[in-house]
Amino acid sequence: MKPKKSLVWKFFPWLLLIIAGSLLSVSLFASHALKDMYYRQTENALEIRAILLQEVLYHALLSRDDAQVDRLSKQIGRKIQTRITVILPAGKVIGDSEEDPASMDNHRTREEVRIAMTGSRGISIRPSPTLSEDMMYLALPVKHQGNLIAVIRTSKPLNEIRRDLGAIFIRIAGAGLLAAVVSGLFAMWVVRRLNRPIRMLIDGTARFADGDLEYRLSGFETREMTRLADALNRMASDLHERVQTVIRQRNELEAVLFNMVESVIVVDRNERIVRMNQAARDLFGIREAVPEHRTIGEVIRNSDLLELVRTIFETGISKESSMVIYNEPDRHLQVHGTPLKDESGGLFGVLIVMHDITRMQQLENLRREFVANVSHELKTPITSIKGFIETLREGAIEDRENALRFLDIILDRTNQLNALTDDLLNLSRIEEDRRRDLIPMQKGSIRDVVDSALSLCKFRASEKNITVESSCQIPLEFDFNFQLLEHALVNLLDNAIKYTHSGGRISLTCAVTETEAAVAIRDTGEGIAAEHLDRIFERFYRVDKSRSRKSGGTGLGLSIVKHIVQAHRGTVEVSSEPGKGSVFTIRLPLK
Ligand code: ADP
Repeated sequence: MKPKKSLVWKFFPWLLLIIAGSLLSVSLFASHALKDMYYRQTENALEIRAILLQEVLYHALLSRDDAQVDRLSKQIGRKIQTRITVILPAGKVIGDSEEDPASMDNHRTREEVRIAMTGSRGISIRPSPTLSEDMMYLALPVKHQGNLIAVIRTSKPLNEIRRDLGAIFIRIAGAGLLAAVVSGLFAMWVVRRLNRPIRMLIDGTARFADGDLEYRLSGFETREMTRLADALNRMASDLHERVQTVIRQRNELEAVLFNMVESVIVVDRNERIVRMNQAARDLFGIREAVPEHRTIGEVIRNSDLLELVRTIFETGISKESSMVIYNEPDRHLQVHGTPLKDESGGLFGVLIVMHDITRMQQLENLRREFVANVSHELKTPITSIKGFIETLREGAIEDRENALRFLDIILDRTNQLNALTDDLLNLSRIEEDRRRDLIPMQKGSIRDVVDSALSLCKFRASEKNITVESSCQIPLEFDFNFQLLEHALVNLLDNAIKYTHSGGRISLTCAVTETEAAVAIRDTGEGIAAEHLDRIFERFYRVDKSRSRKSGGTGLGLSIVKHIVQAHRGTVEVSSEPGKGSVFTIRLPLK
């Protein structure tokens, strides 16, 4: 495209043309008028002289004293610097101020003479045949009693007039040129001055366009420009406010998206990722910023997700599905895809929200596993009880000795069931109270709770001939739940007694630091193999199932210990050496 002319160069040449045209016509008109005036003045002067000559030469003409006429003509002509010619009606020249009349040809046909012969004033401008220059001739008739007796002609060369006029024309032209230059400069100044506010507007609006919406146009001198600038300033201020609102809303949206637990991805019509929050990045292990123009298929290699997006683009309706991201560990996702539509209903993108249901899935699995475990734990003693009752009914009841043995076994299994339901109830109560934050904590002495637990287990220990030592004389008091902590210690002491051979030793020690209190229960029992250490706190986990059952274990004892300790925000740990013994340590924070 041809570059556009600036406003100055668009209007300035025209202004210059108008100025030059006006000055030229004024100059031409003035020159013309001046020329006319000069000619008229010369004409008048010639006429006045001719009229005077009519008087002066009248008598000489009347008496036909041609020599006198010629002499007077020459005399007066020299004095008034005018050529004088006297012509008889026949055309013969009888007097001339500059020539010898005898040498002059007949003048009858000269235009001015011809007119004067008719009685009027004759005038003519033409080159003089004798002097070969332009002359103005004026001829007047001289009459005697109504009859023409001669024609007196006065004439003047026009060269002088022309020279004078030429000088004047040059001056007029010079003045005109000067006026043209001055007006041109003035016009330029005016156009530039008119252009200045426009330039200011252009610069200001360019700054608006570049995003500097806080800039304000000012410094205009005219009312119209000031109003225009005010309107533009208002527009910029409105725009600024709207941009600020949009930025604020975008930041809010970013903050909401960033802090959402759910993973959010927005893709456009071309499947390109427009937005992706931190949770989604973490989920798919994307570290760097997603480059523009990359599609969801390129960034996230998951065919289920891609298919979901494509289905929504095809159908235009929301869709929900579940998918798995195979990783370490696998993530289970519940994915909602929603079409994004503009006001006219046009589909411009898809919003994908992903809920990580891995934990829920795990809990569900745990729950299922737990129900299966409980059923299994209940089933074993119940089957056994049922079997013995049936045997008794089928006649064994008659054999008193055996019947009593069977009843003992039934009692034992019932106790087992009782212990199991007790442990299950305890476990669920602790869990529920913990969830609802209902576990009461009271200031108490660690020594008291240890002594109380020991006294509850003393009998069972002495039954197995196991020595129990305690060195827990610390007079420390802090907040804990006496009953629960006693329960945990009893469980640990019970295990120590259960898994220690008779004649063994159990020692209970306490230690306190600035931040925690620790109780360690050490036994000289069979110990636990390393591969089991990580799992013994799980529900129903036992190293040796039949041994545990035989000794009345439910497989929930350590699980209860762990829950109690966690309710106190503490930890429980174990170290063991098979064949030598085990140490269980409970650590409770003091604050
Ligand atoms: P149980 O009712 O079977 O004792 P627990 O949850 O109390 O269930 O213990 C889980 C398992 O940990 C036991 O079956 C046992 O094998 C092992 N265990 C617990 N305490 C000891 C200990 N002091 N010495 C050896 N093994 C132990």
